[in-house]
Amino acid sequence: MPKNSSNKSQGKNLKKRHRFFLNPYNDCAFTKCPKCEIKTKIRKFPLVIHIEPQQLLLLNKQCKYCTNCDLIIAKKQEIEPLMAVSFSQSNPKIIGNNYLVMGTVDKKDWKEGNQNSLSPSEMLERIYVFKDVWNFDVIPAGWYPNQ
Ligand SMILES: [Zn+2]
Repeated sequence: MPKNSSNKSQGKNLKKRHRFFLNPYNDCAFTKCPKCEIKTKIRKFPLVIHIEPQQLLLLNKQCKYCTNCDLIIAKKQEIEPLMAVSFSQSNPKIIGNNYLVMGTVDKKDWKEGNQNSLSPSEMLERIYVFKDVWNFDVIPAGWYPNQ
């Protein structure tokens, strides 16, 4: 899995905002922030997903969000079916390829991009890449001997 192989030196100073965590746990909703334990909010973000070899997808997705950490938490199991649906007609070969959630765009840019009125390079100029991508390990619920 590509963890943080982002920023293939796009050269120019990319705009940055938010932190991101792709939640791989089906049974963990992160109603609390895994970092600071504050209750997360639910908010929609227009996510930009890069799919190998060369495809951008905009997905306006409801995510968990920690205002304290500026951390967006998106669920892997929710994103992947939406990606598959998006390409089932236009480009089914791409389904299952490696992908990277690379950032967000502003709402207005999402609307334009969604109507295909923006070229990929124009789109790239409007992306805010994530400041940071975090990963969290979750210890499965259960009982364990004291360590
Ligand atoms: Zn937090």
